Amino acid sequence: MRRKILAGNWKMNGLTIDLQEIIEISNFSKDCNTEIILCPPITLVSKIPSSIIGSSLQLGAQNCHFNEVGAHTGEISAKMLTDIGLTHVILGHSERRNEHSETNKILKKKIKIAWENNLTTIVCVGESAETSRNGLTDSFIQDQVTKTLPEQIQVNKLVIAYEPIWAIGTGEVPSLKQISKTHNLIRKLININYGLLAANSVRIIYGGSLNHENAKDIFNLPNVDGGLVGGASLTHKSFIPIISSLETNLK
Ligand code: PEP
Repeated sequence: MRRKILAGNWKMNGLTIDLQEIIEISNFSKDCNTEIILCPPITLVSKIPSSIIGSSLQLGAQNCHFNEVGAHTGEISAKMLTDIGLTHVILGHSERRNEHSETNKILKKKIKIAWENNLTTIVCVGESAETSRNGLTDSFIQDQVTKTLPEQIQVNKLVIAYEPIWAIGTGEVPSLKQISKTHNLIRKLININYGLLAANSVRIIYGGSLNHENAKDIFNLPNVDGGLVGGASLTHKSFIPIISSLETNLK
């Protein structure tokens, strides 16, 4: 049985004044059976009350470097993330792939170093609007999954997020059939490359304009193990109803 997981990605949002949102989300997550993760900007982490670190709400980062230490101005290593109590890291978000030229090859190195430092990786894949229009989603996803994941995987530390780029922050969401098809494809690829046990264990989550209205139907799809939420994770008022949808959809 795969444990449901919901992660919030605050991206480059959040000031000291927003800490109260994290506290509210943490308070709500105490009674949850699902794994709830919040990935605020690193600048906020040191200000989060120590009672929250290691509590029912787990904290993650939005990126890490592929080296453990060294002359990489402005970068943060996986070891540093573990050092401040983070348990998860989002890798390969389309904004990182596009704005920072993160290739599948670079991401593979990041995933390996994150696992070596005991972080659970939320690895994002997803096609552009053009790829989708041209009917090339399946081959694109196949290429990204195959080239991004290492030859050996730590399935208990791997979560794959299917995030169509055209659905991120746009209010557009693929049909349930489309989401289902792509999640099935990803699980099939894991089966082919890593075997049935890995395929049955890996969690595959959906991201892209999730909100309290669409979350329930999406989470109800058999191959969807949770979600990655951007905009709607910024306040407890918009994030908690999505957590509730996942909790009531426990299968
Ligand atoms: C994201 O950027 O990972 C995301 C899912 O954003 P949003 O929920 O705002 O579409």
